[in-house]
Amino acid sequence: MITLQDALQKGKKVLKDNNIDNGEYDAWLLLAFCFELNRAAYLANPLKEIFQDDLDAYMDLIGKRSKHIPLQYITGEQEFMGLNFQVKEGVLIPRQDTEILVMEALKVSKDKEILDICSGSGCILLSLLKLGGARSGLGADISETALLVSRENAKKLGVTAEFIKSDIYSQIDKTYDIIVSNPPYIPTNIIPTLMEEVKEYEPTIALDGKEDGLYFYREICKGLKDHLNPGGYVFFEIGYDQGKAVMELLTEAGMSNICIIKDLAGLDRVVTGRWNEKKGEPFT
Ligand code: GLN
Repeated sequence: MITLQDALQKGKKVLKDNNIDNGEYDAWLLLAFCFELNRAAYLANPLKEIFQDDLDAYMDLIGKRSKHIPLQYITGEQEFMGLNFQVKEGVLIPRQDTEILVMEALKVSKDKEILDICSGSGCILLSLLKLGGARSGLGADISETALLVSRENAKKLGVTAEFIKSDIYSQIDKTYDIIVSNPPYIPTNIIPTLMEEVKEYEPTIALDGKEDGLYFYREICKGLKDHLNPGGYVFFEIGYDQGKAVMELLTEAGMSNICIIKDLAGLDRVVTGRWNEKKGEPFT
């Protein structure tokens, strides 16, 4: 006889032997996913008998994780801002750090028109629309896979949003009250040093910010004058060491009220700025 507990022990051992970070926890999460269990149901009956086929199905998922495939690409989902987002290979997995950006933007997003550049899974824009009472939202991404996933996420969350294929502003002609972006910001030469889960399985196109990591911030800042309304806000997620450089770009673009917001680990994570009613003059 095979039990749930046996399956879990086997799963933990395989992930440990393959040096998977947090392998014990991932073995549990995959068990919960595979058998549609929560912790209480498992603890109520860990000796519940399972069929060989079920064990095989579970060990198949464990096998994927042992090859460093991110857990979220195996389960197909990631929670973000308390909402469930679908993900798959080809789309960046939403990060907890990015919730900092959403929480800041939520303070001002009510009734606003929002543009999300490099929208990926749609996690930023859809959270703002679902939780912040924004008036409308447009997501722009160059990846067809990302566009499909974000449209699917909008449908599942019951949110109205448009997602279009655009290389930064190339297909965008309107102006917006808020521009948000978590663009690719990792310098190209750092990518080989990232965790295997990230560098092997997450899309390089969603990570690579070109030579100094600042390419997308520069391009987005150049277009602010044509795409941000007077009084409008910008929110960028940044790498921990990019705060000063991105503040300078916003200053050059004529923004005011520029400040950095730190994440829970105390690292610089978001840069925000606002435009005066007359663009280019300090906001008071
Ligand atoms: N905006 C998406 C996110 O924050 C995708 C970001 C990206 O592809 N760089 O997850």
